[in-house]
Amino acid sequence: MAQDSSKKNLVILGGSYGGISTAHYLLKHVVPQLPNKTSYQVVLVSTSSQAICRPACPRALISDDMFPQEKLFVSVPQQFEQYPDGAFRFIQGTATELNHTGRYVTVSLKDSDTEKIAYHALIIATGTSTVSPLLGLNDDYESLRATWNTFRAALPNAKHIVIAGGGPTGIETAGELGEYLNGRAGWFASKLENPKVPITLVTGSKILPVLRPAIARKAEGFLAQVGVTVVKGSRVVTVSPTGAGTKSALTSNATVTLEDGKTLEADLYIPATGAAPNTGFIHESLLTASGNVETNASTLRVDDAGVRVYAVGDVGSHARPAVHNILNTVPTLCANIKRDLLITEGKDEGDVGDDHMFKEDTRETQLVPIGKSKGVGAAMGFQLPSFLVWLIKGRDYWLWTTGGLWSGSQWAKEL
Ligand SMILES: Cc1cc2nc3c(=O)[nH]c(=O)nc-3n(C[C@H](O)[C@H](O)[C@H](O)COP(=O)(O)OP(=O)(O)OC[C@H]3O[C@@H](n4cnc5c(N)ncnc54)[C@H](O)[C@@H]3O)c2cc1C
Repeated sequence: MAQDSSKKNLVILGGSYGGISTAHYLLKHVVPQLPNKTSYQVVLVSTSSQAICRPACPRALISDDMFPQEKLFVSVPQQFEQYPDGAFRFIQGTATELNHTGRYVTVSLKDSDTEKIAYHALIIATGTSTVSPLLGLNDDYESLRATWNTFRAALPNAKHIVIAGGGPTGIETAGELGEYLNGRAGWFASKLENPKVPITLVTGSKILPVLRPAIARKAEGFLAQVGVTVVKGSRVVTVSPTGAGTKSALTSNATVTLEDGKTLEADLYIPATGAAPNTGFIHESLLTASGNVETNASTLRVDDAGVRVYAVGDVGSHARPAVHNILNTVPTLCANIKRDLLITEGKDEGDVGDDHMFKEDTRETQLVPIGKSKGVGAAMGFQLPSFLVWLIKGRDYWLWTTGGLWSGSQWAKEL
């Protein structure tokens, strides 16, 4: 469908947790309450035409048998067929330039054409990319699947795997690969002796820094039971060949050199060392030092980008990157978008109510499965037993929650 110049575009960049939720919420609860509602179109631009349950990647990368694939990957445009004709448009493409003074976005389309899209409101939800291409939609979903296939083909020949990164992604990936390749030590054994494929997890400081040390220690114990050794306090300084574990040399053997001078020989190297915001298309004056979009942590507006520009999800600077934070921000964000649109339609500020204010819940919350039956974590400041971590997350890595998010049924009510 081509651009309709008679419409006021509410443009959303990024079709994942933040972007899809915002699109549904706007279509259900914002646009229908505006005067001249048919003059608006929600335009969702995303590099990938399919969304994925991203937290599932550490297990999904091993084999297609780990999850029902039709639930893991879901077509984005299909989720919006429920809305009236003309209310929504999906564009598969990548935003390459945001001109925030001219108020348009340049998009490189999947078929290599480009399109300039003027926006009435803009929501930036382009998330982050990981160093390892195994852990999310750094590109489109076909590319992620191809990357997994290359990795899976190399896995049977690996005799030693090195994973860098002591955050949840590194721990989960080590736990999944460890259990899959080595099995689990018996009930009373604290560690698996002579694992078939030893896995070394290297971290610059401690593991799971968001969680209290006692929980991190428990994780280390579970990892030892699936053949994973944790090396703490020594960052990876170089990897040879350069690019090992990234798209260009995904499965090449690697020599990994640590800060303390030690070297590790890896048949497979997985850099699970954090994620970089997808903001290369945004002027640096709108970014923080870490490259996130400078976002008002209360209103979720991008104050320096002109009127009606917002950010949601991991790309913003307003909260820790986590799905529960996104779910908590969407109603606030959309209430403020509605307010701004009503005022632009001529409503009196006094009649549209005050801004809604987001406040991040910063209590200790993180669940980390370690293989298919164990896990560690805490929720809202309370430590959870392994069984509950398994029940809530470890069984299927949140796949039980994504159906309602992608279809929008999660947002049936205005909050
Ligand atoms: C391995 C892993 C495990 C995780 N586990 C958990 C967990 O258990 N619990 C939890 O709360 N969080 C978890 N997270 C974090 C969680 O996945 C993120 O908070 C969430 O995915 C962020 O959603 P998002 O919509 O902000 O962006 P993302 O999910 O990063 O998606 C961004 C989207 O934007 C698209 N895009 C990127 N650049 C452009 C562009 N220029 N133009 C157009 N489209 C673009 C991408 O293709 C993608 O579809 C995990 C993350 C990883 C990597």
